[in-house]
Amino acid sequence: MSSPKPVFESVQRHLLNVAAAAGRPPPRLLAVSKTRPTSAIMALAACGQRAFGENYVREGALKAIELAPLGLEWHLIGHLQSNKCREAAEHFDWLQSLDRHRLIEPLNHYRTPQRSPMNVLVQINVDGEASKSGCTPDEALPLARAVAAAPNLRLRGVMGIGAPYPDFEHRRASFRRLRELFEAMQEEFPDVDTLSMGMSEDFELAIAEGATMVRIGSSLFGPR
Ligand SMILES: *Cc1c(COP(=O)(O)O)cnc(C)c1O
Repeated sequence: MSSPKPVFESVQRHLLNVAAAAGRPPPRLLAVSKTRPTSAIMALAACGQRAFGENYVREGALKAIELAPLGLEWHLIGHLQSNKCREAAEHFDWLQSLDRHRLIEPLNHYRTPQRSPMNVLVQINVDGEASKSGCTPDEALPLARAVAAAPNLRLRGVMGIGAPYPDFEHRRASFRRLRELFEAMQEEFPDVDTLSMGMSEDFELAIAEGATMVRIGSSLFGPR
């Protein structure tokens, strides 16, 4: 496999340029490695990338175990089933897809206090899309309060997925709503610092609306 370094550097440069043009601080890059072999993750880690995102608990857990010596940071970004909370709490550093109360108690239970707390984002489905998980905007603050009250979890912010509207104004409006919900959460919890939104197709708009983390797969690793 050829080195991903030129692609990685061009994505990094592009993130910096887009953020500068929007007058925003550059966002953190989460490399979405679902379906990619560990060899591809190792190659990107060799370029300096630390944070990787996976959609499936088992797939991500196996990769995290195999690559443990590299000290990478693992984010679960896919829908979490209740019966997978233990495996998620044991192997992931972040859960970006917390979308219902039922997950909080088991996650807190299985994240033993010997470990650092699990970082948690509340996933919000701002457009009410039936195909996506995520809580409603009204549910976000009550969920955030419950996460903040769990000693082995650490509330970090909001995650959202942009709706694939054909026009930019509509898409941008979804990201704006996510930012407003993030800011409302920050008012109550000043430590909240992460607004995760934007993927390969739409990260420019997300950065313009204040994303602090973008989740990028295909632009880094090629088409799935
Ligand atoms: C797959 C996925 C991504 C990355 O998508 P790309 O289009 O490959 O950049 C980001 N976020 C979530 C929640 C995903 O499922």
